[in-house]
Amino acid sequence: MEGVNKEHNSSLHIWKKRPMIISGPCSAETEEQVLATAQQLAATKKIDILRAGVWKPRTRPGQFEGVGEKALPWLVKAKALTGLPLTIEVASAKQVELALSAGIDILWVGARTTVNPFSVQEIANALKGVDIPILIKNPIHPDLELWTGAIERFEKTGIQKIGLVHRGFSSYGNTEYRNAPMWHLAIEMKRRNPGRIFICDPSHICGRREILLEVAQKSIDLDYDGLMIESHFDPDNAWSDAKQQIIPEQVELLLNSIIWRKEDIDNKDLSTAIESLRQQINQLDDELIQILSQRMKLVDKIGEYKKENNVTILQTSRWNEILERSFNKGELLGLSKEFIIKYFDAVHMESINHQNKIMNS
Ligand code: PEP
Ligand code: MN
Repeated sequence: MEGVNKEHNSSLHIWKKRPMIISGPCSAETEEQVLATAQQLAATKKIDILRAGVWKPRTRPGQFEGVGEKALPWLVKAKALTGLPLTIEVASAKQVELALSAGIDILWVGARTTVNPFSVQEIANALKGVDIPILIKNPIHPDLELWTGAIERFEKTGIQKIGLVHRGFSSYGNTEYRNAPMWHLAIEMKRRNPGRIFICDPSHICGRREILLEVAQKSIDLDYDGLMIESHFDPDNAWSDAKQQIIPEQVELLLNSIIWRKEDIDNKDLSTAIESLRQQINQLDDELIQILSQRMKLVDKIGEYKKENNVTILQTSRWNEILERSFNKGELLGLSKEFIIKYFDAVHMESINHQNKIMNS
């Protein structure tokens, strides 16, 4: 185990590198595919870590489930040829053991594993006393507590370097994305984990090549620490996730197309200007909360009347009238219909809760 630790200490600088760029095939398929993809990626000089799925958690049996441990020597060879450290997904103690003995540098826990505390605990136990960095993908469904629980399980076994990967959330009927980004949840997770590496996986969010750049850019604008992008030397013939993989050259193009912004501002005038705007925003937010509270007081009054006269809380025609008025007003003022609906849905729910309390008091 000592040798393993030394190996992982040498990957410390990669853990600190920003942006941290991880790329490689969804699955390791053949030695030729792993080596060619790795060498093309390394030639871009833009990649920090080589990824590949060795064991693939597939939704349906009978789909390609990864070539398994025989891919490990191919990866080791790819590292020897390119100098790129390696990361693979692990989902069981056995896979951890095989990954560690092969000298894999960073492990990741997949979305289908993060949902299962038994599996996460099994992996954490297998890593007791091992100083290896680990990346935890968000659970398939939008549950930040499960994601947090996984962090805690690894922390408890002494893992120091824990990063998070946002790969989107499954949502029924969603067509634009393979996994809806639900940016607000990722932002909340980032807020709860200051200083923790936070990486975006646009490939699994998008599920198709066309919108990778847009999603990658958005994550960088949100101050993510890096990207995990699937790439393959022959994406159309990939054995898994063919539609979302791109050739290494396209990874390079994508990275060059991103506008890299900084969170901290060096320019003093700019920083003062932004600070002043932020103060104004705070002021408006305070006023908005005041106004919302006043609105709820009026709602309460109506609730009293409804109670006295035995009228139902929800009056659909009134609700439609409110929405119609607000769409028109919002449109004139540059607010999207989608936002108005979301906003008024939230306000409406709060109003109903208020009136419910009154009706049943
Ligand atoms: C993957 O990275 O290939 C993978 C299976 O991802 P996820 O766990 O996010 O679905
Ligand atoms: Mn994949």
